[in-house]
Amino acid sequence: MSAYFANKLRVVPITLTLISATFGLWLGELGWALFLASLVWIFIHTSEYRKYLQWSRHPLKRPPNGIDRWFLLIYPLFRSLQRERGRTRDMTKRLREILRLTEVIPDAVIILTPTGDIEGMNDAARKLLSLSDRDVGLGLATVLRNPDFVTFIRENQLEEPLEFTSPFNAGQSLEARRFDTGNERTIVLVRDITALNRLLTMRQNFVANVSHELRTPLTVVAGYLETMLDETQDAELRLSLISRLETPVKRLQNLVNDLMLLTQLESTSSKEQKRPVNLAKLVETCVQELSPLTRTTNQISIIVEDEVLIPGIDTELQSVCFNLLTNALRYSPEGNPITISVKKHHQAVRLSVKDQGYGIAPEHLDRLTERFYRVDLAGARSRGGTGLGLAIVKHILRRHGSELNIQSTLGHGSTFFCDFESIEAA
Ligand code: ADP
Repeated sequence: MSAYFANKLRVVPITLTLISATFGLWLGELGWALFLASLVWIFIHTSEYRKYLQWSRHPLKRPPNGIDRWFLLIYPLFRSLQRERGRTRDMTKRLREILRLTEVIPDAVIILTPTGDIEGMNDAARKLLSLSDRDVGLGLATVLRNPDFVTFIRENQLEEPLEFTSPFNAGQSLEARRFDTGNERTIVLVRDITALNRLLTMRQNFVANVSHELRTPLTVVAGYLETMLDETQDAELRLSLISRLETPVKRLQNLVNDLMLLTQLESTSSKEQKRPVNLAKLVETCVQELSPLTRTTNQISIIVEDEVLIPGIDTELQSVCFNLLTNALRYSPEGNPITISVKKHHQAVRLSVKDQGYGIAPEHLDRLTERFYRVDLAGARSRGGTGLGLAIVKHILRRHGSELNIQSTLGHGSTFFCDFESIEAA
């Protein structure tokens, strides 16, 4: 194509010069003839210039054919524009594909141009940061007006993630990370770390609580031992301390046992361990085992309306009964009656432990199953509990598809109950 036009280009001026020179010589006016030929040549150039000027308004269309060097100038330009357009199309397609892939990422993904403008985002970004497609092309720092986030975006700190409070929800903690993609673009990932932070705080509190609970009996044991080893002390006193060691050592044992049970409950699956359990029999065994601990006989009454089987783990259900009964005993004045019952309730089987003890004020009810939560710390501790009993009960019940319900009136007593699905007894 270019050879064809190159030939044309050489032919037109040569032919024009030859014709005008021949006519000029023939008429004896060579100067005028060449002058006229120049005017024609200028006219051709001007019209070519106009043609290409018009083309330049839509440079992606094919340029018109020309007979002059203009075409040689314009055509390569047009070709490179076409190649560039192809490349841009490919890139846009790839970018769309990448954006489509980012939709499966649960964290917010935002692609930024070198100037920090939003180029693309995924659905999580729209939800988490209230962005919309209208924000594409705007600066991310101007759309999200959190001062820490703005500094983070502008300062190019790629290494350290930024933790900040959501500008839309004061109770939500977010974490942002920046990644340089190498092609001048930046990817910003933002994730919701509210639950993670809550978990970290819970873990810290748990460790602090365990340490505190262990330290108290250990300090007592250490104090007794010190006195027992002190030869200047009265021999009778030193001997009497041996029997007093039992209480703090038992406390330590109970605490360690409860902690181990909680860990085991959290780390094992309950599905394959379930067997049919006769709840009525289980309750009777529990009460029998507890009777040496009760302060008056007949303090615990058992009411069993139906002999039913439930799918469960024997040892865990025993632990539920044991914890609820010991609490009823622990938080009731001496001799007050306690009733444990197993009854059909609609389609379910209801296990219930009722006492006429001190009762619980309503504001504590929601928190009783938290680890180490006690209504009256000093009083409760002296009663021998670990503060983990109801947390264990909650876990076990969850593994059995049930939950703990508490009804209580301060000064009048409490009822702790839970429902289980039944297997009709054969
Ligand atoms: P603890 O080992 O201290 O008994 P729990 O987790 O078993 O720990 O119980 C948590 C708290 O709930 C207790 O410290 C007590 O204040 C309260 N509580 C539990 N059961 C009863 C009850 N039957 N009557 C009154 N308060 C109770």
